[in-house]
Amino acid sequence: MHFTKLRLSGFKSFVDPTEVVIEPGMTGVVGPNGCGKSNLVEALRWVMGETSAKRMRGGEMDDMIFAGTSSRPARNLAEVALTIDNSDRSAPPQFNDSTELEIVRRIQRNSGSNYRVNGKEVRARDVQLLFADLATGAHSTAMVSQGRVSAIISSKATDRRILLEEAAGITGLHSRRHEAELRLRAAETNLERLDDVIGALE
Ligand code: ATP
Repeated sequence: MHFTKLRLSGFKSFVDPTEVVIEPGMTGVVGPNGCGKSNLVEALRWVMGETSAKRMRGGEMDDMIFAGTSSRPARNLAEVALTIDNSDRSAPPQFNDSTELEIVRRIQRNSGSNYRVNGKEVRARDVQLLFADLATGAHSTAMVSQGRVSAIISSKATDRRILLEEAAGITGLHSRRHEAELRLRAAETNLERLDDVIGALE
């Protein structure tokens, strides 16, 4: 699996539709201060399901939408689309019927955001799990921001274990286990209630 294309529109300083093709191998982004290099990386994190506006250098998620300049009015909509090559079929089963996946996150001012994968509306959770299974994601160590390298080196053993789990591609399993445990507990409560009802009828 590799990222092949990133498309932005109305996201932070990228007011006009912008498409970045990501070729195999190393890609460098260069430009003068304030031209939007970090915004590009943040767009990647955002489309992968980032939930914290603070970690995106914003006060609230609406700050991801182009806020306007002296010459251009603000927008009410921002969209980021990430295309990934899934020809190795490494995506989770529900997304594995296609060799190419386009993950789209769109935010509307005052209305929150939604996600689509290949045109089909999905939950934020589905997108987060999709990237966790691909050993990446908004909080993944595959995204190393400034100052993060020293934080990783000096991290505790338990935190470093998370790194290994991610490299092994099992991060998504923890979330799934948690969800399964919640469902199991709900089913147990329902069974107890059923016993009560049966007891009352006998
Ligand atoms: P540096 O090299 O200094 O780290 P950079 O190339 O990484 O800079 P960014 O930090 O990505 O630049 O971009 C900062 C620019 O993005 C600023 O000019 C800021 O005003 C603009 N910006 C951020 N959020 C928005 C927004 N919601 N609407 C419009 N512009 C925005």
